[in-house]
Amino acid sequence: MMKHLEDSYVKEWKTTVKDVKDGKFVTLSETYFYPMGGGQPHDEGIIKKGDEEYKVVFAKKFDEVSHEVDKEGLAPGDEVEVSLDWERRYHLMRLHTAAHVVSALIRNKTNALITGNQLSPEKVRIDFSLEQFDPEMFRSIIDEANTLIEKGAPMKFEVVTHEQALDEPALAGLAKGLPEHEDIRVVEIEEQDRQACGGTHVKDIKEIGKLEFMKAENKGKQNRRVYFKLA
Ligand SMILES: [Zn+2]
Repeated sequence: MMKHLEDSYVKEWKTTVKDVKDGKFVTLSETYFYPMGGGQPHDEGIIKKGDEEYKVVFAKKFDEVSHEVDKEGLAPGDEVEVSLDWERRYHLMRLHTAAHVVSALIRNKTNALITGNQLSPEKVRIDFSLEQFDPEMFRSIIDEANTLIEKGAPMKFEVVTHEQALDEPALAGLAKGLPEHEDIRVVEIEEQDRQACGGTHVKDIKEIGKLEFMKAENKGKQNRRVYFKLA
């Protein structure tokens, strides 16, 4: 399991450089960087060796998380201090968790099928399939999300086996697309949402703060799209 999933609140840690490819692509013995994927942007941050700072401009998981730094100079075995750009990450954690709250409301209120979501530090986009198109309804869903967020609810995390996931309708679809030996991480907001997810979340939806509706778009046929941001 990747470290950022064990604890999404680690901001700084000490570790060693494991390997460096092409001068700028660094793997670490231990990392909490979220690599780009699953609709969530990669983390940014600093790898510090002595007084020298290397800015992490990109992170992506291959076999391990590869950190792209802005200049050459790091070497295998270097002892380093690593820190995340916490403002960026925490903002993304709040937005990502908000995507769960809003998706669940859309699903539960309209029976729409959620077909995708995309996060940027500025906004969240949720795509779904639904016959009707009523921007006012989406506005009211964001209002309702704000009521739930203000009330608060703890996020729960568990890991289930591939077999268990197949037995649960909410997880089965995703499990079918994954290798059988792979355990699945499940994220739950009590009485609201339960789904497989490898993103980073806040501990309680209260931490999200207030959401602001931006716009709803009709993308033809049954494709609908809603945008919102942190107020
Ligand atoms: Zn998630």
